[in-house]
Amino acid sequence: MMEEQGLDSLQLSQGLAMSQDSFQQLWDTVATPSISTIPAAMTMDQETWRPDGQMDIMLINDHVLTDGFDENLFENLPPEMVTKDGVTPPASTVPVTTDYPGEYDFQLRFQKSGTAKSVTSTYSELLNKLYCQLAKTSPVEVLVSKEPPQGAVLRATAVYKKTEHVADVVRRCPHHQNEDAAEHRSHLIRVEGSQRAQYFEDPHTKRQSVTVPYEPPQLGSEMTTILLSFMCNSSCMGGMNRRPILTILTLETTEGLVLGRRCFEVRVCACPGRDRKTEEDNRTKMQNGTKQTKKRKSNPAPDTTSVKKSKSASSAEEEDKDVFVLHVRGRERYEMLKKINDGLELLDKER
Ligand SMILES: [Zn+2]
Repeated sequence: MMEEQGLDSLQLSQGLAMSQDSFQQLWDTVATPSISTIPAAMTMDQETWRPDGQMDIMLINDHVLTDGFDENLFENLPPEMVTKDGVTPPASTVPVTTDYPGEYDFQLRFQKSGTAKSVTSTYSELLNKLYCQLAKTSPVEVLVSKEPPQGAVLRATAVYKKTEHVADVVRRCPHHQNEDAAEHRSHLIRVEGSQRAQYFEDPHTKRQSVTVPYEPPQLGSEMTTILLSFMCNSSCMGGMNRRPILTILTLETTEGLVLGRRCFEVRVCACPGRDRKTEEDNRTKMQNGTKQTKKRKSNPAPDTTSVKKSKSASSAEEEDKDVFVLHVRGRERYEMLKKINDGLELLDKER
C-alpha cells in the first residue's frame, strides 16, 4: 500500500518536473550534486526517504512513530533492494514544490480579503501568492475529498522560489530571532491556535517545518482551517533578504508518506493589499503584452464619454496595443459595453 502510493507520487512529480524548465534546471544543478554529499550510511531509522524526492524527518519519539508502522521495515534490506522497490528516491535535499492533490484530492482555499489598505493578509488567485504582514495570522482552508488515515498531519515548509537560492534554508533573520524567546524562534512559519503544533528541523538538511495534526472539519463545515503566520518580512536583512519564498503544505501519514501537496508563494510585507494589487496589475499587463482592454463605443457621444489614451503611441502599428480608459455614465450602459469588450478580449485570446 505504502509502496504503491509512493510510486504513483514518484511518477507524478517526475512528470511534472520534466515539464517545467526551471524545475528541470533546479533538478540538474541541485539534486545531482547532493547525491554524493549524502552519506551512504545514513540510517533508515532516523529518516524516511520518500519516492517523490523529498526527505522528511521521522523523529523517533512517541508523537511521530505510532501504531501501524513497522519500525524494522527497512532494517534488514540492503540499500540496493530498497532502491529497486522504489522506496528510496533520488537523493535530494530540495523539497518538491509541485502540486499533488493525490487520492484525497488535497486542496487549499484562502479567504477573500481583497486589496484594501487595511488588510493584513490577502491571497491572489491570479498569482497563487499570499501577501501578509509580519506575524499576522493567515487562515488557510484545507479540503480533502475523504477522511485521511488516522494520525495524518499537515506540514508547512518554506523554500526559496528561485533556483539560485533554493539550496539555502529559509530561516528568520538574526534580528527577529534574537528578540524572541520562543523555543522555535528560528522558524519562519508558525502554526497559531494549536497546542499540538510541532516544530522540526532536519538534522542533515537543516530545513525547518511545522506540523499540526489533521483534524476533520467541524460539523456543518466542509473544510479545516489552519492558521499560519510568517515571522519575518520578505525584506529582512540576513533572512529572506528580498528572496521570494514558496510555502509547501503537505498532508502526510504519521509515517511521513505524502498524501497530498500544495504550494503557494508568500510575500511578507507592510502593505499586503497594495503589493498584491501592484503585482496583479503587472502580471495582467505582462500577459496581454501591452495589448489591453479597449472600451469603445461605435457612436461616440462626446457629452457622455471621454476617451483618454493612457499612453501615447509611438507609431500607428503600436496604437492598437495601447490601453484606453472609457468613462461611461450609468451602470446599465457600462455593463453592456463591458460585455462587448469582454467578447472582443475573448476573440483576441483565441486568435
Ligand atoms: Zn526578520
